[in-house]
Amino acid sequence: MSETITGVGIGLGVAQGPVARTPKRTPPPRDERSGRPAEEEAGRVREAVAAVAADLMRRAETAGGTARDVLEAQAMIAEDPSLEEAVQARLDDGKTAEWAVHDAFAEFRATLEAVGGYLGERAADLDDVAARVVAHLRGEPAPGVPSPGHPFVLVAPDLAPADTALLDLDPASPNRVLALVTTDGGPTSHTAILAREKGIVAVVGAGRAARLADGDVVIVDAAAGSVVTDPSEDELAEAQRRADERAAAEAAPVTPGALADGTAVPLLANLGSPKGAAEALELGAEGVGLFRTEFLFLSSTEAPTVEAQRAEYTKLLTAFAGKKVVVRVLDAGADKPLPFLNDAEEDNPALGLRGLRALRANEDILRDQLTALAQADAATDADLWVMAPMIATVEETAYFTALAREVGLKTTGVMVEVPAAALLADRILKHADFASIGTNDLTQYTMAADRLLGTVASLQDPWHPAVLQLIERVGEAGAAHGKPVGICGEAAADPLLAVVLVGLGATTLSMAPAALADVRFSLGRFTLEDARRIAHAALGADDAPAARAAAQAAAGS
Ligand code: PEP
Ligand code: MG
Repeated sequence: MSETITGVGIGLGVAQGPVARTPKRTPPPRDERSGRPAEEEAGRVREAVAAVAADLMRRAETAGGTARDVLEAQAMIAEDPSLEEAVQARLDDGKTAEWAVHDAFAEFRATLEAVGGYLGERAADLDDVAARVVAHLRGEPAPGVPSPGHPFVLVAPDLAPADTALLDLDPASPNRVLALVTTDGGPTSHTAILAREKGIVAVVGAGRAARLADGDVVIVDAAAGSVVTDPSEDELAEAQRRADERAAAEAAPVTPGALADGTAVPLLANLGSPKGAAEALELGAEGVGLFRTEFLFLSSTEAPTVEAQRAEYTKLLTAFAGKKVVVRVLDAGADKPLPFLNDAEEDNPALGLRGLRALRANEDILRDQLTALAQADAATDADLWVMAPMIATVEETAYFTALAREVGLKTTGVMVEVPAAALLADRILKHADFASIGTNDLTQYTMAADRLLGTVASLQDPWHPAVLQLIERVGEAGAAHGKPVGICGEAAADPLLAVVLVGLGATTLSMAPAALADVRFSLGRFTLEDARRIAHAALGADDAPAARAAAQAAAGS
């Protein structure tokens, strides 16, 4: 009898094949005294760290895209001087190199977790770096992905970015990864982000997949968020039919986003660097719906100059000549602190001096950024729209749009991420040329559930009817004013939710480029009338799972 294990699906893909699991990690080192002099141990650590950092950099070069940034960051962690000092202190106490690395990294991890936010999220990456260094010291192969000699469904607790980035997806390879299932990790884990970017069929957070054994045949159904064990012949045939249908949709020429009745829904890309432009265009992005400028400057200790910014924005706008590009001014604070904008200690940074609030407290930095954008705009011919994050009031909207227009920017809008802004969208849109709904933060603030906390992850679901009602309100305000309402949070990348969002009044959808094909395919199955009916079904539910189920039923899937 087949059985269904549930998790969180990434995208719409479906795949089938035999399971191969990542090897069990060897036991961590023990707290032991070394038989070698401290100096010799220090030499071993230096050699191992350098080898691991070089290996990560090599992987970064091959990987490209977001994966490159993640891997480069890991390589930098490996060679962090404060870690080196912590290791040395343990070696001076006579400990083994293996223990010193393991223990010092664990201490550093605890510190990062206590800081929380973006740094806290990086804490798990430290475990991977430490395991790689210890494996090197022991002369063992680096932990990671197996090579069973046949295509396989990879099952792992979670994957290190270094492994996800380099998964073998070549259809001709004997060790091709057909799908990925993780028992841990949620939809915003690195594994999920990279899987989405690479278009890997994936189900994450499927805890019960831990009992799968090598060779078990499974169906991985990302659209349903399930892993079917011991499937029947009929189930396998149906999965294959769907996989073929999707392959055909993916192979179809890339067309502009539209509903079945021809209603245009431009599909745009979320980008954090001009480097992603070529790939986004190749995947059919009709422009950029969210350029996260803070990602350019996460490691800067000083505010970037107008010239440095102009160069980056010019690259971006040049790549999208003739197309719409929505740039967001720096969204610093909470999980993305920028040292030059956020120096205050805050107990609740997500509710603190974040986004436009931090920029307003440092108006010179905001003016410089708007000036750089206006200069890049004047030198290129993309259609530049500029927006501010974390707007809570009508007054903030008026302040930002007036300032942006003063420096010469033509199309100025706001993000709707705070429930207050959604509730007063009709008044906000009197000042702004457009609104773009950030569903990640709108969900976090509506549900009072920190988007980084696994313990409240079930509340962090944009399908929640309370979130959908707020989106509907913004959609109605946009329609009343004849102004565009985009969606740029992760919700737009969920193929069925994308249909609901259009039914609620969204006029464009922006997402990670790898999600474009699935969303394009999904939109093409429904008319605007269908989308409104499906949205209505979701709005009437009591909670997020019920809303998703009601939408699925209304969509006939
Ligand atoms: C959002 O909050 O949905 C959003 C798009 O902004 P970010 O994820 O960068 O906070
Ligand atoms: Mg946001």
